Amino acid sequence: MQRVSGINELTAAVEAAKKDGLEVSFVPTMGALHEGHLSLIKEARRHASFVVVSIFVNPLQFGAGEDFEKYPRAIEEDAKKLDGIGVSVLFTPTVNDLYRGNLNVSESAGHIGELYEGAARPDHFDGMLTVVARLFEAVKPNYAVFGAKDAQQVYLVKQMAAQKFAGIEIIVAPTIRESNGLALSSRNRYLSPADHKVAEHISAALRSAQQAASTAGGSPQSVLQAATTEMAKAPEAKLDYIALVDADTFEAVTDGFTGRAILLIAAVVGETRLIDNIEITF
Ligand code: AMP
Repeated sequence: MQRVSGINELTAAVEAAKKDGLEVSFVPTMGALHEGHLSLIKEARRHASFVVVSIFVNPLQFGAGEDFEKYPRAIEEDAKKLDGIGVSVLFTPTVNDLYRGNLNVSESAGHIGELYEGAARPDHFDGMLTVVARLFEAVKPNYAVFGAKDAQQVYLVKQMAAQKFAGIEIIVAPTIRESNGLALSSRNRYLSPADHKVAEHISAALRSAQQAASTAGGSPQSVLQAATTEMAKAPEAKLDYIALVDADTFEAVTDGFTGRAILLIAAVVGETRLIDNIEITF
């Protein structure tokens, strides 16, 4: 595994691979790697033999008072986890390497970017899309792999790619969970053991909603009700939203909807904001 931080070095490595006839898969991360990230890398390898992983904590996607400063940074540990699993290049740019002095938001997530996570974290998605655009321009991959765990991010990245990066196919990989159901997240390390127990109600709520959907007459309303009932069992979790959206438009669905929907839950447990989701077909 080659480790690079400068864009010129990265470009040279990727161009050499392409010259050799290889396709390139890309997995962007913020580091503090866990099995969820590693599963994206496995998926990336299924699509192309040259795999680039980036680790970059993007200042533009953190709001004032969020955890940019204390976001876990464990680059040497991360590099060890990536060794020997088929990663060709680990790209760890500095802010200057990536933004070259132009730390401006260049992308707009539009209306959908203001809902749900965007309502709680204003400007988050514009900042996220901006770093993804800079990374796509730097890496120029054939494929880029994102986790279904961040459903709104996936929706917005797909939209941006369709408009601006037609040569990059966006691949979505399933959410990896602990055996108790809690979705893996770099932020889970902020949870105390008691918080952890509370947090497990989020995935339990998603499962109970999915069950409600699969019973006869399961409607969007019954699905939302099932999730709400389960979350009410964990009043320590400060629920932000439970929402059911059309997977194709990210607009809220109402009764009578048919097709693929995504049930979203966000809650603050202890000091930590957690999100999770599950796909439900009506
Ligand atoms: P992050 O480092 O949190 O920015 O995440 C980098 C990528 O890993 C994103 O595409 C996330 O959606 C994905 N990811 C995070 N947690 C999980 C998980 N539990 N399962 C699968 N993918 C994940």
